[in-house]
Amino acid sequence: MPLLKLDHVKKAFGSLLALDDIELSVNKGEVLGIVGPNGSGKTTLLNVISGYYHSSGGEVLYKGRKISGMRPDQIARMGIIRTFQQNIVYWDTVTLENVYRTCYLTAKTNYWQSFFNTPAWVKENKELWAKASEIVQLFGLGDFSFSLAQGLPHGKQRSLGMAMALAADPDVLLLDEPLAGMDAYEMEIVLANIKKIIERGVTIILVEHNIKTVLSLCPRIIVLNFGHKIADGSGQEVLKRQDVIEAYLGVE
Ligand code: ADP
Ligand code: MG
Repeated sequence: MPLLKLDHVKKAFGSLLALDDIELSVNKGEVLGIVGPNGSGKTTLLNVISGYYHSSGGEVLYKGRKISGMRPDQIARMGIIRTFQQNIVYWDTVTLENVYRTCYLTAKTNYWQSFFNTPAWVKENKELWAKASEIVQLFGLGDFSFSLAQGLPHGKQRSLGMAMALAADPDVLLLDEPLAGMDAYEMEIVLANIKKIIERGVTIILVEHNIKTVLSLCPRIIVLNFGHKIADGSGQEVLKRQDVIEAYLGVE
């Protein structure tokens, strides 16, 4: 059974069909790239998977269970995490605590146990701080552990956003143009971060404009054009196709 399955998914905005009959299966551990021209439906696809938009037709299944119709927070709890360009929640809080607060969302002990500081909570809380610290190190943010999020350099803020996404223990991570607006140095850092997440076995769906990045990270790529999936395969297979070249790269 695929981890994630889109079955004839449609999304309409008025008379515009942003997604038209999308069929897609993603297996556990896959790193899938989504490319396509501006306005082809890439962001809409991530929004439909993560529950930010309700599909207008078809179904999204996760581990065989229908998730279309659920709220974004319910879907996130099930393990599908979408990152936003700016998903740092607490600007006036230091890096380590930002990551800790996301780790806290995964805590097994309940609120009242933490309120009364029960032994179970004390133990788990210690583990959550250790986990936060490990993730902060993993993303090269160790020197900024006690710096306020709002004062971090741009590239470090993006790294923090990804560190927080990983802290939520995702099974599936949806990344929407994580390199947008970055200079070459920042890009390198974020690329390294994405590779670290891949190494952890997280299933990734990556929307990215830069075709070279997609080719280097994603063994499988789908191409969207006007809401249709026009290709699905390895980079080599996809780039061979004339319709893809015309749609995405432009005819030269
Ligand atoms: P991409 O991410 O590939 O650039 P989008 O998924 O953002 O494309 O958009 C696909 C199409 O749907 C575009 O024509 C866009 O204008 C339209 N669209 C996206 N979101 C909305 C919305 N909330 N309301 C109306 N139209 C939208
Ligand atoms: Mg987009």
